[in-house]
Amino acid sequence: MNRVVEDRTVPPHTVIAIDGPAGSGKSTTARALAERFDLLYVDSGAMYRALTWAALDRGQSFADEAGLLAMFTAADLQLDPARRETRVFWDGKDISDQVRTPAIEANVSAVAAHPAIRAAMVERQRSFARRRGVVMEGRDIGSVVFPLASAKIYLDASLAARAERRLNQHRRRGNETEFETVLAEVEARDNRDSSRAESPLSIPPDAVVIDNSRLSLDEQLERTAEAVITVLDEQRPRSLTAASLSSRVTIRYKFAYAVFGPLSRILGLTIHGREHVEFDEGKILAANHVSNLDPPMLAASLEGMGHFRAVAKEELFRFWPSRMIFKLLHSIPIKRSIFDADAFDTAAEYLAEGQNVVFFPEGMRRVVGEPGPVRNGLGQLMMRTEAPAVPVFFRGTTVAVPGSSPNTPLEVTFAPPVRLRALAALRNRLDDRGISRLIAQLFDQIYLELQARSFARTPMTTEERESADRARPKVLRKEAKTFRREKS
Ligand code: C5P
Repeated sequence: MNRVVEDRTVPPHTVIAIDGPAGSGKSTTARALAERFDLLYVDSGAMYRALTWAALDRGQSFADEAGLLAMFTAADLQLDPARRETRVFWDGKDISDQVRTPAIEANVSAVAAHPAIRAAMVERQRSFARRRGVVMEGRDIGSVVFPLASAKIYLDASLAARAERRLNQHRRRGNETEFETVLAEVEARDNRDSSRAESPLSIPPDAVVIDNSRLSLDEQLERTAEAVITVLDEQRPRSLTAASLSSRVTIRYKFAYAVFGPLSRILGLTIHGREHVEFDEGKILAANHVSNLDPPMLAASLEGMGHFRAVAKEELFRFWPSRMIFKLLHSIPIKRSIFDADAFDTAAEYLAEGQNVVFFPEGMRRVVGEPGPVRNGLGQLMMRTEAPAVPVFFRGTTVAVPGSSPNTPLEVTFAPPVRLRALAALRNRLDDRGISRLIAQLFDQIYLELQARSFARTPMTTEERESADRARPKVLRKEAKTFRREKS
């Protein structure tokens, strides 16, 4: 393949997400990358095609979600990446050729639009990555299946170029058809895939977008492999320099660390992935929020990292003693029921100076076990500053009093920074509000993923469930009140 990346290897659990519309070259690219980096290649579209084939074969209605789901869960579906094209087996029967006919392409989007079908497919797709690193291609791989993929690529090409490729594929398989028919089919499928309510085809905000309309196959593969290596290099933890650390810790923060550090140790805080936050760049620390103990625990987990400024609801600046604490730490007051331009200006200024800004993108404390929804503010801040955002996930802060729930871990988890690599491409298609929504949806998926990883280590405890049940009605009432004006 490629000269620049010739000798490069990737860690064995690397997950590469390739998304894009029909005929954008995903399969060729994903297969070549998998071969190049010694990863498993998975064609997720083949799974939706296989179920569509089975439905047609058995006369199952495409509208019957429960019936389709029952068929899928009862079947033994196997994918074999093979040499040229993924071989597909349904209960042992080789249906590789049948799943690539125009009849399947005309109906597959209807099958793929059902939420329950997608949930079952996603579960299966994630299971591939538990065993080894994968390159997976599809429509929602970077946005839903692997929101924390090591690298995300979005392939695109003009409609005409994509239709041309599809036509050639059909002809090679002996399916005689016309260019106009294929063009209309590809366009219709794109529309259906992009407009469905559940996980529509969209550009993951942190994907590298490659338009290959005018690239030769070699050029396209070279670009993609280079992009993967660049992203992996950028994601690799980079340590802060000792000099920048000491110059950044002011006396106020030394004091805060001296209080919160020991407190976190008494409470038994575990910090995961701290290396993801230790780099010299102004960054947004985008944290889920379940308890008043979240900010002090975050402070404790940033001990020795210089200072940071938290965006905090303005109500906290009204009365002593919280007023004193938040002022002391130069926190940024924010009004939540309107777009607070002043707060955003201040945060953007701090980020431009290379400081860290803590932001709770859900806008208020939420229910344990049910993170989100992330609101549009995070996307607005990211778009405006183009600062990387490190996802932060809290667990156990609602039941952290010693002895109250000995089985619940008290954890802060940092994930690798999310960078808005696709901003230019997104701006060609969406307004700022639309892009903010996409960023919010990505973070919703990231929090769910971080939560799932934590629950895989230690399942949700009875105390957490009880605390969630107690909090739920209150949280819903508060949400209705706080964001009433935003909604109306
Ligand atoms: O990629 P391929 O053309 O084989 O995908 C076939 C169809 O499967 C798509 O048009 C889409 O409706 C569905 N699909 C999906 N999500 C994926 C992959 C495919 O909805 N991750």
